[in-house]
Amino acid sequence: MSRRFIYRSFASAALSLVLMLTSCTYSARTEEANPLFAFDTVFYQTAVGGDETLFADTARLLNEEELLFSRTLPESQLYKLNLEGRATVSRELFLVVEEALRLSEQTGGAFDPTLAALSDLWDFTKAVVPSEADIQEARKQAGPQKVTLEGETLSTGGTTLDLGGIAKGYAVGQILSLYRERGVTGGIVSCSSSVGVTGTKADGSLYRVGIRDPGTEEGLLGTLALTDALLSTSGDYERFFLADGVRYHHILDPETGYPARTGLRSVTVVASLKGQEELSLVGARTDALSTALFVMGYGEESLALLSDYDMEAIFVTDEGILLTKGLEEAFSLSEGGQTLTVVG
Ligand code: AMP
Ligand code: MG
Repeated sequence: MSRRFIYRSFASAALSLVLMLTSCTYSARTEEANPLFAFDTVFYQTAVGGDETLFADTARLLNEEELLFSRTLPESQLYKLNLEGRATVSRELFLVVEEALRLSEQTGGAFDPTLAALSDLWDFTKAVVPSEADIQEARKQAGPQKVTLEGETLSTGGTTLDLGGIAKGYAVGQILSLYRERGVTGGIVSCSSSVGVTGTKADGSLYRVGIRDPGTEEGLLGTLALTDALLSTSGDYERFFLADGVRYHHILDPETGYPARTGLRSVTVVASLKGQEELSLVGARTDALSTALFVMGYGEESLALLSDYDMEAIFVTDEGILLTKGLEEAFSLSEGGQTLTVVG
């Protein structure tokens, strides 16, 4: 699939983030877990029902996931794979890499799990724009087609893998699966970029997930009332620096080696979990697709991709909000909010 950048003319800028709204009185047992730190972010959870060990098991699960997918923990399988270039890995890591490569192909390369060297170069703590020569050198090192999978063995083909654009969504899906197994009747799990919702609140009402307004510190563009859904947001607010008035953020365009500029401030991809068995796979997909759509920008190709995956999206630009049809009912615009256009 070739990539077309139809809406490059949208003004570029910052952020958006999914925030969990928790404001209600429950009649049944409702518990909020202590926030958990994993994948360089904080995971919040609330569950109605379930058993005593639910949150302790969730913590253990997240820990195990980190030991597979973290690029920075020396004990992780991914770290070792990147170091050695070839390794026999667990089935879970194998499947996530396989899915990441498939998504890379289906997004015409917009999602690229081999950009680690390039991401390292864009060091957001130093706030220095790398040299053009270094960017092109790091770009050459990448290439999803260089990665090979055989049996349980992965070879990086000289690239360095980074699953930062897919692993958190996968983990949120894993946690929701655990909720289902443990008889949770309603629950929500959220981290910086992905949110999963199962069932309803104790009073039978829907959970509401806030969509962050990129233009403000904590404001919301609106909320989505959801049940059994998983959503991921990619925005240029999470990790960035400003240099000469330009915002350099963490979502990179594999074609240029620079932060993607397609006029989007954020994009949120929403999947229904109704009838879905493999929630972790759905989470991996919403996560990777939000990253990919941010790189591709709003346009026919992005809408076609969403339709292929049977997912909905909220695109945020400086001009307003573009909401796909399937979310029209669930979305409530904040008062005095932005222009809302239903698309797709
Ligand atoms: P997300 O916040 O899910 O959009 O993921 C962004 C993270 O994924 C970055 O911090 C990088 O680790 C990695 N990344 C950056 N650009 C890309 C890309 N084009 N494809 C896949 N992963 C990327
Ligand atoms: Mg992502």
